[in-house]
Amino acid sequence: MTFRDTTPDYASMGLASEYSKIDYPKPDGKLSFDKLSSVYLSNTYHEEGQRCHLHLKDQSIPISVNLVKFDEPAQRYCPAGVYEVVEDEGEKKFVINGQNCIHCKTCDIKDPSQNITWVTPEGGGGSNYPNM
Ligand code: SF4
Repeated sequence: MTFRDTTPDYASMGLASEYSKIDYPKPDGKLSFDKLSSVYLSNTYHEEGQRCHLHLKDQSIPISVNLVKFDEPAQRYCPAGVYEVVEDEGEKKFVINGQNCIHCKTCDIKDPSQNITWVTPEGGGGSNYPNM
């Protein structure tokens, strides 16, 4: 028997206000590692100067909707730390560090507003695991 859940993944996200913040321990560098060290191991490469392959349908949604309701989950679900919310002169800004993307496509699936579209990078860019 196959069990199916017909609710899309992005529609299953709860409001940030309904949950307490998880205080994750810092990576110890032995058994657990920070995201950017792991991105380095993926040998991710994108040709310089190519357009960002992560498109927002509406530039305002990450801050005006996702941050307010969900504490902008892209900051946490992206395994490569591509998405950040930074403060610039007292104003919150959504930053996309597209060159770190390892092309798992989670953001395209999980964004609660379905505002992020992942497209293939130019020139076969992306991660390259030489020992696999
Ligand atoms: S595809 Fe994966 S690695 Fe790339 S930005 Fe989206 S969540 Fe991050």
